[in-house]
Amino acid sequence: QPKAIIVGAGIAGIATAIRLAVKGFKVSVYEANAYPGGKLSEFEQQGYRFDAGPSLFTMPQYVDELFVLAGKDPRRYFNCQQLDTVCNYFYEDGTRLSAYADSEKLVEELSAKTNEDRENIRKYAANSRLIYDITNHVFLERSLHRLSTYLRWPTIKSIFRLPGIDAMRSMHKANTSFFKDKRLVQFYDRYATYNGSNPYRAPATLNVIPYFEQHFGAYFPDGGMYSITSSLVKLAEELAVSFYYNSPVEQIVVEGSKATGVKVKGDLVEAEMVISNMDVWFTYKKLLGHLPGIHPKKILQQERSSSALIFYWGISKQFTQLDLHNIFFSADYEAEFNSIWKDQTIGHDPTVYLNISSKLKADDAPKGHENWFVMINVPANKGQDWDALIDLARTNIINKLSRLLGEDITPLIQSESILDPRSIESRTSSYQGSLYGTSSNNQFAAFLRHANRSSKIKNLYFCGGSVHPGGGIPLCLLSAKIVGNLTPAIS
Ligand code: FAD
Repeated sequence: QPKAIIVGAGIAGIATAIRLAVKGFKVSVYEANAYPGGKLSEFEQQGYRFDAGPSLFTMPQYVDELFVLAGKDPRRYFNCQQLDTVCNYFYEDGTRLSAYADSEKLVEELSAKTNEDRENIRKYAANSRLIYDITNHVFLERSLHRLSTYLRWPTIKSIFRLPGIDAMRSMHKANTSFFKDKRLVQFYDRYATYNGSNPYRAPATLNVIPYFEQHFGAYFPDGGMYSITSSLVKLAEELAVSFYYNSPVEQIVVEGSKATGVKVKGDLVEAEMVISNMDVWFTYKKLLGHLPGIHPKKILQQERSSSALIFYWGISKQFTQLDLHNIFFSADYEAEFNSIWKDQTIGHDPTVYLNISSKLKADDAPKGHENWFVMINVPANKGQDWDALIDLARTNIINKLSRLLGEDITPLIQSESILDPRSIESRTSSYQGSLYGTSSNNQFAAFLRHANRSSKIKNLYFCGGSVHPGGGIPLCLLSAKIVGNLTPAIS
């Protein structure tokens, strides 16, 4: 039985393991941490449970697909519920609105709260859909690095419709051309942050993102976000995938121009193929550091997505005006993005994202309490004085939440831990602590991500958020699908 080695048990590594095991490979996954999931992990904090990283879950069909592929009933392993209210928004001018899953209800809400013409909001939604129809065949489910992708009729049709993807102006520009109301522009600009980009620079093609949320919905897994990881690890183990924890891979072994295995804890482990789920930057710098001649320098120099600063707070009260997902917008969005992207710092009024999983999973917090995951977007780690920035941000966040909730939250914070760009970088080997690999701040970003297969080394593949098609759980799962399709069948 041919062997495959996967470096890293992030969500893409686990999904790739499942796909290769179904194909007939004997799969071993080596993970540096003591636990699986990478960014998609969980932890306990004085009676509160927290999902450490991702909190917004879309496209659950890509998870189900893995169980079906293995001939299992997904519902026996993994369940989630669709959210009726995707997110609550709080503006500094006192406006509050809710993004409903039902599109007509959303149009009503946005129009009622911002006085924007209903038809205009519908037109915007139709435009998002058009971008989806054009891009979905080209970018997402296939390798962009194989001729066969471009010779397919749906791709050719899409290429003729490319002007429709609105790649030549920024998201913000497009959004201001649709809407007069600044609050609505901010509402739609925020979708750039779904892949760690800047709406003032990212192409308007990213205005496709609201379509994903609106059309495919947002979900919450019954067992919390971590159950995506745990259910897929269970499936992988049933397929005889071996997981080795506390086992950082030190080198990818290359003989001639072929990957033949890895070095772990000084030992050589041989395999017919190696798949790296480690951030592609670190894969080259650390695991292929002995072969500088094969490093794709341009790709490795690309700008990284933004990072995050997260406070995990145990809160000794329940807030009825809050839901699972809540956003507290900055008063000046452009200044906020200039702080992150131009000044590489944290401004005094960042947009605060507050996620409370105990709203839907009561046992995530003690009775009468809530588990607050409080996150702001921050620049990638370039050696800033994070301790000073975190202190200042903490004060500004507490002031902002207290102001907009009408109550001083300071005495309610019972326990705290913090994740920042440095710890994201060190815990998951993500270069500069970026959440989503490279940024999507230019119109060619989709084509410039590293391929899922090495063009220089045979039998070496890549999956995960730092390679094609990009970061976020759905795209990571798609990277695993592409690797599954690129790898040879076992005869
Ligand atoms: P990672 O999660 O990056 O894991 C890589 C794994 O490889 C790690 O476990 C690491 O320890 C291991 N590894 C690295 N080097 C080695 C080595 N040498 N040997 C062995 N193992 C190694 N996405 C969403 O869809 N929705 C969200 O709401 C969302 N919010 C986010 C919020 C935060 C705070 C963060 C951090 C991310 C968020 N994301 C979100 C992005 C999402 O989490 C990632 O895109 C995705 O989880 C990345 O998965 P991955 O497979 O690329 O691997």
